[in-house]
Amino acid sequence: MNSDYDYIVIGGGSGGGATARRAAEYGARVLLVESSRLGGTCVNVGCVPKKIMWNASDIQHSLKQAKGYGFDVAPWQFNWSNLKQSRDAYVKNLNELYGRLLTSSVVDVINGFASFVDDKTIAVNGAEYRSEHIVISTGGYPVIPDITGADLGISSDGFFELEERPERVAIVGSGYIAVEVACMFNALGSEVTMLLRKHQLLRTFDESVREALMEHMLESGINIIPNTQISSTRKRADGSLEIQCSNHENILHVDSLLWAIGRKAATDKLNLKAAGIEVNADGTIPTDAFQNSNKPGIYAIGDITGRAQLTPVAVAAGRKLAARLFNREPESRQDYENIPTVVFSHPPIATIGKTEDEARALHGDAVKVYQTRFTPMYYALSDEKSKTTMKLICVGPEEKVIGLHMIGLGVDEMLQGFAVAIKMGASKQDFDRAVAIHPTSSEELVTLR
Ligand code: FAD
Ligand code: NDP
Repeated sequence: MNSDYDYIVIGGGSGGGATARRAAEYGARVLLVESSRLGGTCVNVGCVPKKIMWNASDIQHSLKQAKGYGFDVAPWQFNWSNLKQSRDAYVKNLNELYGRLLTSSVVDVINGFASFVDDKTIAVNGAEYRSEHIVISTGGYPVIPDITGADLGISSDGFFELEERPERVAIVGSGYIAVEVACMFNALGSEVTMLLRKHQLLRTFDESVREALMEHMLESGINIIPNTQISSTRKRADGSLEIQCSNHENILHVDSLLWAIGRKAATDKLNLKAAGIEVNADGTIPTDAFQNSNKPGIYAIGDITGRAQLTPVAVAAGRKLAARLFNREPESRQDYENIPTVVFSHPPIATIGKTEDEARALHGDAVKVYQTRFTPMYYALSDEKSKTTMKLICVGPEEKVIGLHMIGLGVDEMLQGFAVAIKMGASKQDFDRAVAIHPTSSEELVTLR
């Protein structure tokens, strides 16, 4: 194996895999180093296995509606361990596919942990490799707090290792992962308690979806305890966990405790000092608009930069960087404005652009908001009357659309097309010019008044 490369990629997740393959396709000699399984967080302990679990809980939701449509399917049985086996097999296939894709793009791959020797050299498994261009795409890992008994709990990584469905679960946190995991456990039959250190879920999201989500989750039977923190956890003789909350009012007994309080950037063991690379206090690597770190020839992409921690963002930033470095496209860079995102809760949330609060802070009275709340026709024949909420944020006399926030059945698949329009600078009038598709929920977005 060579020791000199045109491009060294540290981390074979979403960003690393994408930038490595694209650079190799442009003719660069590329080395990719991955310490664990190819595909990184998304493929192994993130988006992919999560979406399988979400699909399972979505099927449970459909089963609940089936009776209204004339199907007599209850009682049904759900087998967690069968689902886990099939899910693991699917993920293993993807790991192998990733390996094949890298090999076919002619990327050298080493399984090992990389650290810097100097700003042009890394060490892996006792050997050294050099390059004028090194990109750090090492992602992050779940945070476990420093309190007594914290290690009796699991993180989202541990969620994907569960062989059986726990009967009673406590989830700490209020972000993407906490909400998604709580909804999945709930749909698949566990008794779920969420512990929030503040009083709301998804604090940075638009109020409309935040509040509607809270309503949906409470209605579905999830117990949400706000303004509380765990002070200690201990194992009881029967193997269950006893959780003591900081306000001493709540003692919970559960079978599983899941920490979902954020992720930490994986920079601590990279020996960045040896290369003179600056790091933020939270471990993320500061980068400019072109993914450059402070050190010429060293770049960072994906979660490690702390910006929009989503798979498609890491992939796009990686490909754009490869184009800039190896395809003579000096202006190639990722645009971080108007990134659409979906929270796979039940029902899902889909959002892009400014929240109403952000828009009003920026544009004051020039902001105009259109919103609607309705029960989708899907529930016409069912006892459930779960509502969909949509909010469109516009600005200026031309009513340019600068935000769209939705929660409800099917909004996860609805957003992508509208994201194209918003990215192109669409106005409310452009939305209204599109003929509605009837009967759908998305038609509401082009008929808002
Ligand atoms: P990663 O994919 O984390 O890859 C980093 C890789 O670097 C890892 O494989 C790691 O083993 C390796 N590594 C670390 N240190 C070293 C080293 N020193 N040497 C060699 N290798 C190293 N995003 C979405 O867009 N949609 C979703 O639905 C979604 N769901 C998610 C669900 C969960 C539970 C989680 C945790 C995340 C989810 N995400 C989702 C976020 C998404 O997974 C990340 O944004 C994405 O994986 C980031 O890619 P990355 O390349 O920056 O890092
Ligand atoms: P998030 O940043 O989304 O949420 C973590 C939340 O936990 C914080 O917002 C905070 O909320 C709360 N928190 C922080 N510290 C503590 C503490 N000590 N005790 C209690 N609560 C605490 O992180 P996640 O780990 O959920 O997800 C990481 C990232 O991965 C996401 O931001 C997202 O970018 C990505 N992701 C994307 C998904 C998707 O696309 N569908 C799914 C999953 C992850 P508060 O301050 O309000 O208390």
